Amino acid sequence: MPTNNEIPDTDNAEVIFENVTTPWLTPFYEKLQNTYHEGRFAHGLLFTGSAGIGKYKLAKQLAQFLLCTDKRDNDACFECHSCRLISANNHLDFHLLEAEKNKSIGIDQVRLLTEKLNERPQLGNNKVVLIKGVDQLTEAAANALLKTLEEPQGDSYLILLARTHHQLMPTLLSRLQQTHIHSPDDQTLIDWLYALGYQVSDYGVLRWFQNSPLALLNHLKALEQDASLDTRRQCVEGLFNLLYQPIHLFSFSQLLIKDVEQNLLLVFHLLHDIHKLKLNNNQLNEDAIYYFALPQLQLWQTQLSCKSLRVLSTEILKTRSLLTSHSSLKKELLINALLIKIKNEFKENKAC
Ligand SMILES: [Zn+2]
Repeated sequence: MPTNNEIPDTDNAEVIFENVTTPWLTPFYEKLQNTYHEGRFAHGLLFTGSAGIGKYKLAKQLAQFLLCTDKRDNDACFECHSCRLISANNHLDFHLLEAEKNKSIGIDQVRLLTEKLNERPQLGNNKVVLIKGVDQLTEAAANALLKTLEEPQGDSYLILLARTHHQLMPTLLSRLQQTHIHSPDDQTLIDWLYALGYQVSDYGVLRWFQNSPLALLNHLKALEQDASLDTRRQCVEGLFNLLYQPIHLFSFSQLLIKDVEQNLLLVFHLLHDIHKLKLNNNQLNEDAIYYFALPQLQLWQTQLSCKSLRVLSTEILKTRSLLTSHSSLKKELLINALLIKIKNEFKENKAC
């Protein structure tokens, strides 16, 4: 179980929760199976969709199906030698290629992999190559891949994963059968989380994670941990110091910088719980993320208008998105600007 400071990114959430059921993927999987049985299955497939939507999971499921040597009722048997090896990530005819952090996928990596596609399958009848983050292919690597797709081997399947198809060369795209994975609706998400032991009634949180259910699950799991409780306490303390002891701006911003993606999320939740107090006659459910700091939050809710809370929540999400998508930005400057905005909204002391 990861600690709060090691929360994996949303793409990794797909790997961590590989064995969790994902009902919104079922229609996509069944459609692909039917295409296979009807003999219309392409040798090059592209799955697109947000990080944490389940592209990797769908690809692994499909690979298991393609490699299974004892398919039953239109599906993999989950029992044969091949099925067991793929579950253990140890199948000789399954190859995974992914970019290292902040690096592109080069031509040598692609060549090495496509050579394997020319070999005979070692276990069953098929071979599967899965490439994560196809938008990170260099141009030469993409061309090498294109060549492989132009001369497909009967028993080889290439599954490519990307957030969108926009960065792929049109020539490459034209060789691929694309499946775009849509986000599940609210009720599907609520039912899914409930089955996993999480009761989420907060539509704000759901909406926010709608495109990344597995990232939401990761987030809920992190909140359960004591490490996260410590950080939440530090967020309350950080906000308190920011408002009443201005010299402490530095320590709060340092705390947030430690893990921007996760910790800004916790500040967002803090404002969210303050907002809930305003809307619910100063009451908060016991399962609220910041319930432990209720008296402090009750005081704060009198000092901020609903409008201010909405403005600040948007600012937090904007800053978070900027910081997580551009590694080169000056984190400290952006975080400090955000903290000063929070402080100023409190100063205005408006009524709702
Ligand atoms: Zn099998």
